Amino acid sequence: MEDCIFCQIVAGDIPSRTVYEDEHAFAFLDVNPLAPGHTLVIPKSHHETLGELPDEGSAALAAAVHEVAPAVEAAMDADATTVACNNGEAAGQEVPHVHYHVVPRYEGDGYGP
Ligand code: 5GP
Ligand code: ZN
Repeated sequence: MEDCIFCQIVAGDIPSRTVYEDEHAFAFLDVNPLAPGHTLVIPKSHHETLGELPDEGSAALAAAVHEVAPAVEAAMDADATTVACNNGEAAGQEVPHVHYHVVPRYEGDGYGP
């Protein structure tokens, strides 16, 4: 999908700060973070929503989130992470390439979905 921002990030055509990469998934810092270390985890292939991901893509994305969430928590010296997916436009999804947000959380930080 050449007009998809996240596909262009995966291709390296738009610069990003890489957090994690494997064969099927890619993670990078959000350009407009809710907190320092806010990371987005995406499949390398273009699918708009979770329901459109094939089974193997879904498993690979879950495995990447499983790696990235504790790594972000440790790197940011956080107490926890919020892991969230706005799955569809009506849920607030602005970029139509499925992604999980991983947001570092701290005791008493007072925000979150
Ligand atoms: P959504 O609202 O679709 O769940 O979240 C999209 C996220 O993508 C937002 O948090 C936004 O800041 C982030 N984002 C949008 N465009 C870019 C970009 O070009 N680079 C990066 N690193 N993040 C982006
Ligand atoms: Zn895409």
